[in-house]
Amino acid sequence: ARLVGASAEGDDQAVEAALRPKDLSEFVGQEKVRQQLDLVLKAARQRGATADHVLLSGAPGLGKTTLSMIIAAEMGAPIRITSGPAIQHAGDLAAVLSSLQEGEILFLDEIHRMSRPAEEMLYMAMEDFRVDVIVGKGLGATAIPLELPPFTLVGATVRAGLLPPPLRDRFGFTAHMEFYDPAELQRVIHRSAGLLDVEIDPAGAAEIAGRSRGTPRIANRLLRRVRDYAQVRADGVITRAISEAALSVYEVDSRGLDRLDRAVLEALLKLFGGGPVGLSTLAVAVGEEHETVREVAEPFLVREGLLARTLRGRIATPAAWEHFGLAPPQQGGA
Ligand code: ADP
Repeated sequence: ARLVGASAEGDDQAVEAALRPKDLSEFVGQEKVRQQLDLVLKAARQRGATADHVLLSGAPGLGKTTLSMIIAAEMGAPIRITSGPAIQHAGDLAAVLSSLQEGEILFLDEIHRMSRPAEEMLYMAMEDFRVDVIVGKGLGATAIPLELPPFTLVGATVRAGLLPPPLRDRFGFTAHMEFYDPAELQRVIHRSAGLLDVEIDPAGAAEIAGRSRGTPRIANRLLRRVRDYAQVRADGVITRAISEAALSVYEVDSRGLDRLDRAVLEALLKLFGGGPVGLSTLAVAVGEEHETVREVAEPFLVREGLLARTLRGRIATPAAWEHFGLAPPQQGGA
């Protein structure tokens, strides 16, 4: 797993859990989402009803699982956590749904990766709190209707557009999670440092925040690596100098680019004069599969405005030249 990767793969789950904010007031940033959710939950509580179904869209590591747990805590309700890929058959979903308690929160991560039959069962469950369980096969198959207790579905997905419209329309409220700005990440880092009992100064936290790609999960992970360095090579206190030194050991640069990101950009700048160059040519130059370059390195480089995908190929932006301290070639000639 990559140090600057946004998925939780390879992370210590216990540490991640320990760092999760427990209520909306502890949840850093995402002002709009927090305000909207606060209203939805307060209103439901006042009515003594279960909250409407909520769809959370946003990149991995931005706090969707955390928010679903906060929703449960704020509603004083239990929570069940599962994911689209874990629900391949309608029967899997029926088993989960039929065991829910009244008011329970069902968190369905990667909801866009559910199978079609399960998705169709979910429509009815969301709308009418009932499912038809099919028993038997072929001509002997019968549908047995099953009443469900009212529950709140919290679905999570990278992009709401990945969901079929009928599913999307059944959510009462969609919250779009944005990447965090450096000041917000700095708050996340201070909070986590407090929980991990690590001393950190504001400049040290700012340095880590700037390299965290707008993502709290990455900020927390970098913080843990910098903590190791501070403990082994210094007096345990995280300052700007310690953050810089630690993250240079881990090859995470000042903008959060890692070795692969830098290799791609450097090849584009130094071998191809900033492009345009085709993806396959670029991939060969860095010795990677073109899928790796396209799926792993490019999305962040594009988001950061360092690389652009054009019809004629990949090009480096002026910001990319600047990041490497290089001068772009003169345009136009004589
Ligand atoms: P997702 O489900 O979107 O992949 P998670 O909810 O698992 O993301 O969050 C990843 C980590 O980042 C968690 O350990 C959590 O502590 C931290 N985190 C996410 N959002 C916030 C936030 N707004 N404030 C503080 N910590 C956060």
